[in-house]
Amino acid sequence: MREGKQVKDYYGSLVFNDGVMRERLPKDVYRAVHQTIENGSHLKLDVANSVAAAMKEWAIELGATHFTHWFQPMTGLTAEKHDGFISPEKDGSVIMEFSGKELVKGEPDASSFPSGGLRATFEARGYTAWDPSSPAFIKDGTLYIPTAFCSYGGEALDKKTPLLRSMDALSESALRVLKLLGRDDVTRVSTTIGSEQEYFLIDKEKYLKRKDLMMCGRTLLGAPAPKGQEMEDHYFGVLKPKVAQFMHELDEELWELGVPAKTKHNEVAPSQHELAPVFETANVSVDHNQLTMEIMKKVADRCGYACLLHEKPFAGINGSGKHNNWSLSTNAGENLLDPGKSPQDNRQFLVFLMAVISAVDDYADLLRLSVATAGNDHRLGANEAPPAVISVFVGDELAGVLQSIEEGSRFDGSGGSKMSWAHVLPHITQDTTDRNRTSPFAFTGNKFEFRMPGSSLSVAQPNIALNTAVAEELDRIYDVLKDVPEKELPEAIDRMLKDLLSQHKRIIFNGNGYSEEWIKEAENRGLYNLKALPDAMPHLLSEKNRNLFKKHGVLSDVELESRYEIFLENYNKEIHIEALTLLEMIRKDFTQGLVSYMKDVTNEALKKKQLLPDLPISYESDIIHTLDQTSEIIGNKIHQLRDDTDQAEGITDPLKAARYYHDVILKDMEELRFYVDKAERIIPDGYLPYPTYGQLLFSLR
Ligand code: ADP
Ligand code: MG
Repeated sequence: MREGKQVKDYYGSLVFNDGVMRERLPKDVYRAVHQTIENGSHLKLDVANSVAAAMKEWAIELGATHFTHWFQPMTGLTAEKHDGFISPEKDGSVIMEFSGKELVKGEPDASSFPSGGLRATFEARGYTAWDPSSPAFIKDGTLYIPTAFCSYGGEALDKKTPLLRSMDALSESALRVLKLLGRDDVTRVSTTIGSEQEYFLIDKEKYLKRKDLMMCGRTLLGAPAPKGQEMEDHYFGVLKPKVAQFMHELDEELWELGVPAKTKHNEVAPSQHELAPVFETANVSVDHNQLTMEIMKKVADRCGYACLLHEKPFAGINGSGKHNNWSLSTNAGENLLDPGKSPQDNRQFLVFLMAVISAVDDYADLLRLSVATAGNDHRLGANEAPPAVISVFVGDELAGVLQSIEEGSRFDGSGGSKMSWAHVLPHITQDTTDRNRTSPFAFTGNKFEFRMPGSSLSVAQPNIALNTAVAEELDRIYDVLKDVPEKELPEAIDRMLKDLLSQHKRIIFNGNGYSEEWIKEAENRGLYNLKALPDAMPHLLSEKNRNLFKKHGVLSDVELESRYEIFLENYNKEIHIEALTLLEMIRKDFTQGLVSYMKDVTNEALKKKQLLPDLPISYESDIIHTLDQTSEIIGNKIHQLRDDTDQAEGITDPLKAARYYHDVILKDMEELRFYVDKAERIIPDGYLPYPTYGQLLFSLR
């Protein structure tokens, strides 16, 4: 498709986008589809038939033979089942068919996807429904149709459904507030998202020798390499030629699919990289992030790499996150979080800003929950990632504006001043906010950046929580202002902003989020510090959070309860698999290296003693002693972990099991690892059947 072509000529060439629809659909059908996308109006069957026919023609011209309803079940991955367009004729020939009904609705067997008790296996039927707001595309000869997935009873079994519902809720609440502010021109408010994706690239041959990486996505043992990231020489460093080639191929594949991959660079840890796209409407952006993760893995494999998306593949060096840049945009493209030249006079901006700040304070537990996974727990609170405590960074200028609101005084801080550091260089304007990399939730000029999501997470999750919480705060703002006569509105708004600020200022923190003092200070302020998933999960079912999701029609009680179970089960299963993998790797792979090294050193020492009885063998005996002592402890700890893992299997309550996995199994694993790593430091690399940290992290060319 793209050979010899310029980017503008192949960008989006595999997407059934607006341009293609305008060109290929009859005018009235095109208009009807737009109505559905913009206002959520119901799509009639004859319209669907017409769209299906055009889609089929277009897809077949591009070489497609199959179609699939592409959905996002609670596994966090995507799912697809391919059906051919073919329909055999009596004369032995075949025609290609695709109906409106097939476009709009699918009926996959739902019984093999996580449902958290929502669906007994005898009611295995599930439905997928076309989401026309995210464009269909072609990949590997198949037409992909983005869909939502629900059970026979209509309960959401996926991540897209609640995301779409939360976007609708937020739009509705934002519109009501905007109307109060005199903005009758706005008809829809969308959430916009740009999700920066971090990842590691590892040599494929080496990856295939590590059971822990293959089965769990992270190393479960491994002594640190002599060099880590302390030289700060990788971040924004020169791209190695093969890595640059990988990034180039990745960009091309993504661009063909209309994914706006924009920025690429080396990250802080060795072998760690980042890709950032241009922001898009939340729903499309989430689909595109799923595609990005999938295509990263595929292109990496082709280039001789394994792409690691785990949040903490290596102990002791940075993990990978997925910064969720979030804002609100009107149908005319106005960014509601753009402060303009003088934020102090921009009431509309201040209202939306305070709605977000209040939402983060009132629903900090939900935001924490929305990023809670076994993998991300290793990252949050480690010294390179935001802590598990949520706070909001607003920067000096906005802090000044907010302070003057609180004090009822006039803010006359100056916006961006001119900077110059050498005469030959152009003068540039200073930004009104500096960066604060340590804040989990930072205002970055005209959007918020939520930095807690982990690299493998479906970015739908944090946005479901954020959209719904902000919708709720906007409703409360509307209630305060709705009966105020128009000419008293400005003062009423100022009063309300002041009240909100005094209620929620505890969540604002502009200092170093990584410091010990902040964690103590946060506790004094009464902020949540939900360290691990089992600490956070009970909050999902609190009355406050149930009411929030129910009121805004985002998740019903049963849907929420099913998610609670699924999250816990995923956590428990993941750690269980890790424990079994660690045991297997130690017993089969590590022990082999340990024993053969001990044998060789012993034999060497014996030989030396026979041939040269006067020479000391203290070096050799020292090695044998240390390894012998360590291996005895390892033996005991293996028994402990095995017994405790058996024990864990017997716990039926998922929350109790999660606590056990966290408190007992993870601790066993860490202790075991400590001694294995201690031994690994002494054993030469060649004795181990798997590559060490140094080989894994510094092998890219
Ligand atoms: P950083 O300084 O964190 O590297 P950038 O300013 O380059 O960030 O932007 C990071 C991400 O934020 C990009 O994916 C970008 O598209 C996204 N972004 C920018 N504006 C918005 C917005 N209004 N809404 C959502 N995301 C946005
Ligand atoms: Mg960023």
